[in-house]
Amino acid sequence: MTVISVIAGDGIGREVVPEAIETLDALGLGLRYDVLDHVNAQSYLRTGAALSDSDLDRVRASDATLLGAVGDPRVTSPDYARGVLLRLRFELDLYVNHRAVTLLHDRLSPLRDEKRRGIDCVIVRENTEGLYAGIGGALRGSSELETALDVEVNTHAGVSRVIAYAFSIARTGVCLVDKSNAVPHGGRLWQRCWAEQCAQWPGIHATHQYVDTAAMRLVADPTAFDVIVANNSHGDILSDLAAQLGGGLGTAASANLNARTGFGLYEPVHGSAPDIAGTGSANPVGAVLSAALMIEHLGHPQEALAVRSAVARSIADRRCTPDLGGTLTTRQAGAAIRAALD
Ligand code: ATP
Ligand code: MG
Repeated sequence: MTVISVIAGDGIGREVVPEAIETLDALGLGLRYDVLDHVNAQSYLRTGAALSDSDLDRVRASDATLLGAVGDPRVTSPDYARGVLLRLRFELDLYVNHRAVTLLHDRLSPLRDEKRRGIDCVIVRENTEGLYAGIGGALRGSSELETALDVEVNTHAGVSRVIAYAFSIARTGVCLVDKSNAVPHGGRLWQRCWAEQCAQWPGIHATHQYVDTAAMRLVADPTAFDVIVANNSHGDILSDLAAQLGGGLGTAASANLNARTGFGLYEPVHGSAPDIAGTGSANPVGAVLSAALMIEHLGHPQEALAVRSAVARSIADRRCTPDLGGTLTTRQAGAAIRAALD
């Protein structure tokens, strides 16, 4: 029996996750859910606990996690979001951030040139090291010599494993994106790990671009990319750029993975969106496509494909929320996706 731990979280996370679950249920895969309903800002404000040890045990006991969003304007301390998301990411060593981007419908593309609209790529972002490791400090505060340092961490093991993952999912090619011309120490390490991994995957076309060039090329011709692998900060920026090319924040799906254990946490790229929470206008597509990614990784590629096709059909028919040019509510858009399932 496959068990999915579910953390709907906050804001629109609580509105879109039920649509993802209902869509999964319509596939008849016999999934079981362990719902961690108390992991949200409301209970954090009451108890001060973000994600407890026993919550973590429940997540570990499951086969995958489906997450909505974590964040609430009433919670000003970063400890809450860090206590949930970073705790899960580090305790489960979810070193890959996998963001698949496909253009769901032509009208959603911000690009003019029709021939170049069809993005279908995966951005693989390193998820546990890099510039976001929180290492550094401030020196000589409140003087003209004030200096702030953020150290970028790159380890041979960490870089190699994320590059290996990129190769393992490539259909045609992997493009390493870095800034090794300007960031020499980390750059050299990435280049060496890259060369080692390229030698292990001779059938996959391997290319390299500096991040500034890659940003430009992604806009000029996104169809040229299959898999992009990048460090934490570059991957962060490029994946949002790519998400916009695919149809926007409401449609973007992601997975945080430990490719060695196979465990994954799947979540839409958007956050809790407090400005639209409770209005019924949240787009459920990002959550539904995250669930599709999840079942694909759990061994159900046909069903995942069926969900993606149903999403594309419902958008083509404008049976979708206002952000995609439709007039449906979250519930209605979820129902339209299910109705479009074969
Ligand atoms: P958080 O702090 O949790 O990331 P946020 O305020 O940054 O929340 P996001 O969810 O990241 O909000 O999204 C930014 C804006 O994009 C939202 O305020 C909302 O207007 C819009 N948006 C995000 N997700 C969706 C969605 N699923 N459907 C429709 N609009 C969305
Ligand atoms: Mg946000």
